[in-house]
Amino acid sequence: MAADPIPLAQAMIRCRSVTPADDGALDVVQRALEPLGFTCTRLVFGPEDYRVDNLFARRGTAGPHFCYAGHTDVVPPGDPALWTDDPFAAALRDGTLFGRGACDMKGGIAAFVAGLTDYLAAHPAHPGSISLLITGDEEARSVDGTAKVLEWMAANGQVPDVALVGEPTSREALGDTIKIGRRGSMNAFITVHGIQGHSAYPAKADNPIHRLVAALGPLLAAPLDNGSEFFPPTTLQVTGFDVGNGATNVIPATARATLNIRFNDHHTSASLTERLHAALRAAGCRYDLQVECSGESFVTRPGPFVDALSRAIARSTGVTPALDTGGGTSDARFIARYCPVAEFGAVGTSLHKVDEHASVEELHRLAASYRTILEEILI
Ligand SMILES: [Zn+2]
Repeated sequence: MAADPIPLAQAMIRCRSVTPADDGALDVVQRALEPLGFTCTRLVFGPEDYRVDNLFARRGTAGPHFCYAGHTDVVPPGDPALWTDDPFAAALRDGTLFGRGACDMKGGIAAFVAGLTDYLAAHPAHPGSISLLITGDEEARSVDGTAKVLEWMAANGQVPDVALVGEPTSREALGDTIKIGRRGSMNAFITVHGIQGHSAYPAKADNPIHRLVAALGPLLAAPLDNGSEFFPPTTLQVTGFDVGNGATNVIPATARATLNIRFNDHHTSASLTERLHAALRAAGCRYDLQVECSGESFVTRPGPFVDALSRAIARSTGVTPALDTGGGTSDARFIARYCPVAEFGAVGTSLHKVDEHASVEELHRLAASYRTILEEILI
């Protein structure tokens, strides 16, 4: 009889752990892991008014060290009146578990713990060691969560050999997609300074709009690349353009633009920043440029780890997974600095939505997949 992930998922969903609140969610995970022989360490980071609780749990100390990563924090439910059930009631109806986090990703963590329970029952003396890195800061700032726990792990000799993030990556059927990388994302805030003046006497002014448009033109005229082996082409979108000018006969003093760039492994945020400087200089701009990078691009190339994952998923689901790098950023971007990382989890059609849900049957199948992954990687 396989372990049942549903009661554990329900217990987690009943904790109102909207970032950065924990409301007992990590205690639920810790209480499930300790009887399985895990040593649990709670790691609290963040300023006084934004404390984030995290959990690192490891069973054994030997290599190879397999780490499962996830988060117990959830996005806000929005207006609860729009939900069929209370978003934190963990209602079970018609074979479906409803609630905030059912899909993203308390259901995934429960499936991992259930799969792990079955794996340990079948292989009590397994080689290597297993850990869980569970954060409470994935959905919001992602500052005091996975990144800080990894720093602690590195300082304490706990860096894993491979890691699997349990985010809901499947598109239509469980097992159809593994994410082996993610695009990078950066925002650029450009202010171009000109000289204000009368639009009838442009020679006495310096129009910053013209200069900014001239700088942006070449960046928009052609793709920044044609894609790479595992990534689509980089995209650059102008997401803001503002001159704050209500008059029709005034050349304004400044013009501002905001860009969002989703980039593949041909670039880094530093190389793209250099490119923006070059374009602004080429257009003769006097300017300020600020950039914010929420994650560099990364890819875990097919090799023993990705092959083992693919084999395990094909064996347990009957579906051969596609290797994908689409979507936004995830905490895997932090883990990629330390070890090979991939992401595999449930079908993610309802994440962050009203009436978020997971199929009970699918969570059971996900648990079986996680068990098979441990068997492929550790024994
Ligand atoms: Zn998530």
